[in-house]
Parts: sequence; C-alpha cells; structure tokens
Amino acid sequence: MKPAPFDYHAPRALGEALDVLAEAGEHGKVLAGGQSLIPLMNMRLASPALLVDVNRIGGLDGIEAGPDGVRVGALARHAHLERSGAAAAVQPLLRRALRLVAHPVIRNRGTVVGSLVHADPAAELPAVLALLGGSVRLARRGGTREVAAGEFFTGPLESALLPGELAVSAFFPARPARTGTAFCEVSRRHGDYALAGVAALVRLDGDLCVAEARAACVGAGPVPLVVDVTAACGARAPRAADWAAAARAVRERAEPETDIHATADYRRHLTGVLAERALRDAAQDALREAAGG
Ligand SMILES: Cc1cc2nc3c(=O)[nH]c(=O)nc-3n(C[C@H](O)[C@H](O)[C@H](O)COP(=O)(O)OP(=O)(O)OC[C@H]3O[C@@H](n4cnc5c(N)ncnc54)[C@H](O)[C@@H]3O)c2cc1C
Repeated sequence: MKPAPFDYHAPRALGEALDVLAEAGEHGKVLAGGQSLIPLMNMRLASPALLVDVNRIGGLDGIEAGPDGVRVGALARHAHLERSGAAAAVQPLLRRALRLVAHPVIRNRGTVVGSLVHADPAAELPAVLALLGGSVRLARRGGTREVAAGEFFTGPLESALLPGELAVSAFFPARPARTGTAFCEVSRRHGDYALAGVAALVRLDGDLCVAEARAACVGAGPVPLVVDVTAACGARAPRAADWAAAARAVRERAEPETDIHATADYRRHLTGVLAERALRDAAQDALREAAGG
C-alpha cells in the first residue's frame, strides 16, 4: 500500500525543526529511522499531514558514555550504540538488549530514541529504560524537559511526547557496583518481536547477598512492566535466593494479550520462565562484576 499524501520538511538545524513542529502541532510527525513510522503510514494506520525528517540535523547522533551513564542522541542508530564499547562498559545491558532488536539491516537505520518514542510494549529498549530508571529529554520551541521513564510510557504506542516536541536524547544510568543484568526473550524467528521477554537487574551488597532485584517485562501490558522482586527472592546469596518465588511474583503481575502468535496464558507462563532465567543470569553477572569482571 501507499501512504496518504503528506508534506515533507527536512530541516538542517534543531531550531528550524522545533519551529516547524510548533507550527504543525498535532498534524506533524518526526521521521527518524522510519522503520516503524513508514510501515504504519504505508498501511494507513498513521496519516500525518507533515513529516519532519530530522536526519539532516547535525549534532543529534552522539553517544556520550560517562561515569553516570550513557546519553544517546536522537539520531544514534541501534547499530551505532550496539557497537559502542564505551557504552557497553558503562551499561552492559544496552548491548545485550540491542542484539535482540530486529535484524541488522533494521538496526542500521532505526534509532534508539525513535524506539523509545514509538513506545511499543513489545520492544526491548523501553523495558531497558524503565528497568534502569532512565529518562528522555524533550525539546520544544523555547525549552526542554527531562521525563523519567516511569512517566514517559503512557500506553501502547503512546508516550509523554506532546505535539510540537522533539525527543533530542535518552539517558541510561550506569551499572552500579556489584550489579548484574540480563535480557532473556523468546521469539518465533530470530529478529522478530518477542512473544515474551524479561530484562533483569540484580545488585549485591558488600557480603554478596541480594540487595536489590528487579525485572522489566516486554509484551506483558500496555507499558513496560517493572516488578521489584527484592522481597520475594530474599536477602540471601544468589545461589540460595528464591528465584522461583521472584519469578512467580513477576508472572502474577503480567497482563499479556492473546494474538495470532500466542495466547495470553502461554505468554504469562513464558514470562515467568524467562523471569527466573533472567534473574539467575543477572545474579551470576553481578557475582562476576563483584569479582572484578
Ligand atoms: C521487520 C521489523 C522488525 C522489528 N523488530 C523489532 C524488535 O524486535 N524489537 C524492537 O524494539 N523494534 C523492532 N522494530 C522496530 C525498530 O526498532 C524501529 O527502528 C524503532 O521502533 C523505531 O525507530 P525509528 O528510528 O525507525 O523511528 P521512526 O519509525 O522514524 O519513528 C517511530 C515513531 O517515533 C517518532 N519519533 C522518532 N524519533 C523521534 C524523535 N526524536 N522525537 C520525536 N518523535 C520521534 C515518530 O514520529 C514515530 O511516531 C522492527 C522493525 C521492523 C521493520
């Protein structure tokens, strides 16, 4: 199919883009990698009157890895972040998750920030941002605001982005000391959206007992579902922690939907299995990190 007719603007400066978006209001849409928006337009599930193609704006493709975390610019592609050794050193979960996003061709073009704004509950990066407690920086004509992950995802394919705003970057906090992460998912074919997926984070205290354990689920509700399972698994050494109880706590909170690929019951079961696997893997990763890598 072909998209409905639309106007196209390709600004070369951020200020120009914000002016155009402000004028267009709810009729304007940002075009980044186009890997989600163009298929939606071709299927006429989206019909913006104006596309604002931000790909020619300089300075938006940066990846800054510092002691506090990784700031990813609006035009940084999935593949760019996946290959960044500096980003992987500061927050290893980014590379682990990105390897599960679509196929290499799509990762070459699709952007990290575009994936967050697209806010697909089946996507990996929104779950990562939610698990780590990251944020998205939104710019509009005359100002910027930083929105925490907990408030950014508001529904399936819905975010806190307002008409006239452009997401200029996202921030993923660094891995704290003695902390491990993992991402486990199941999809019917490699590169497909997952039937279910769980990102996990486990932090150990100075005695190498579990101090904090959290899981973030993909496809388990309208927005990324983050479950704190610290109490459920008990403040014990990773090999004695009750990961099965922690996984049950995750499964009970999951609210997946039935579609042509799988039933809600199957997805809920899978979420529990993957939660236990991801939490155990994250705990092992934390032990390795505590032992010095
Ligand atoms: C076959 C296929 C398989 C895929 N599989 C997966 C998968 O397994 N996991 C996964 O996570 N993703 C998957 N994707 C989606 C892919 O990751 C997209 O790249 C991503 O979701 C959107 O990024 P984009 O840069 O292409 O955004 P676009 O398609 O350009 O835009 C998507 C939406 O975000 C808005 N937007 C984008 N950037 C900004 C910005 N800076 N400011 C304001 N609004 C903005 C657009 O207006 C639009 O509404 C798949 C895509 C395809 C085609």
